[in-house]
Amino acid sequence: MPKILEIAELGQPVLREKSLDIDNIEDPAIQEFIDNLIQTAIDSNGVGIAAPQVFEPYRIFIINSRPNPRYPEAPEMGPVAIINPEIISYSEEKEKGWEGCLSIPGIRGLVPRYKHISIRYMTREGNIEEKKFTDFVARIFQHEFDHLNGVVFLDRMESSQEIITEKEYQRLMTQAENLNDGG
Ligand code: ZN
Repeated sequence: MPKILEIAELGQPVLREKSLDIDNIEDPAIQEFIDNLIQTAIDSNGVGIAAPQVFEPYRIFIINSRPNPRYPEAPEMGPVAIINPEIISYSEEKEKGWEGCLSIPGIRGLVPRYKHISIRYMTREGNIEEKKFTDFVARIFQHEFDHLNGVVFLDRMESSQEIITEKEYQRLMTQAENLNDGG
């Protein structure tokens, strides 16, 4: 049975380190770790989680995308393990969107991110994939990729005026949901 891992919160040095490449993806310990990271993402209701967030400074993260009030068109994707990722190219266009982080509980911030990215990564089977991501999934990817370099979403924000509490974020999302319903 996969285990739920402890989440490192902001202030833990591991969140500010540059993580290391994985060069032994077939190692059973790495495969077991990926199962545990996926289980932890599911348990915490996260759309993504990166290995440093559970005190393991390696270049692995999970994307677990699903539709939500702000991105009703978000694809059902995952949970999928992304290993040794690279961002090959970015769109010129950036867009601001709300982000939260399991390592920074209780707050949300408006973060500018590239709207489209082309990326390359290794799957847990050891295959190399190249893909283009857009909007919500591109945002998750950039957020999790940053964790591998010791960067958190607060570092990307343009203004601390665009930080709100989780409670107020939930209120905003409920309003957005009602608007989507035509209410
Ligand atoms: Zn995060």
